[in-house]
Amino acid sequence: MLNENFITLTLPVKKNIALIAHDNEKHALIDWCREHKDILKNHFLCGTGTTARMITDHTGLQVKGYNSGPLGGDQQIGAKIVEGQIDLVIFFSDPLTAQPHDPDVKALLRIAQVYDIPMANTRATADFIITSPLMNQAYQHSVINFNKNIADRAKSL
Ligand code: PGA
Repeated sequence: MLNENFITLTLPVKKNIALIAHDNEKHALIDWCREHKDILKNHFLCGTGTTARMITDHTGLQVKGYNSGPLGGDQQIGAKIVEGQIDLVIFFSDPLTAQPHDPDVKALLRIAQVYDIPMANTRATADFIITSPLMNQAYQHSVINFNKNIADRAKSL
């Protein structure tokens, strides 16, 4: 049930989409972007540095690049989620290779959950999301009321 512990936020029609792929998955994500280019070009795209550069080079889509993932790019995208500036994350992670920045990857997954941000970790999930009617609509969802959360904690701790 909704109450003052939650606030309603809106994912707009034109979405800010973050694109990230681990090295073994980069060409799969580039293929996916090519396949869905006509939809993706209607949104604002950003991504971790190498992924963003490679998508632009291979598809012509404009993708704003943050730092490379192992150098803090995943954390930058997580911070943008907290600031309400990311509406959807497509993250082709590699389930078979250890990553030096695994804590950052986990942090990104966690913060996307906290803010109820749709996030695809597989190509099939990404296909379901990108073809959803909600891609062309504003979507309202409820997230934790962060101001009230701070006020309550400051009072009770
Ligand atoms: P990259 O970072 O796009 O700079 O390679 C992705 C990642 O490994 O998180």
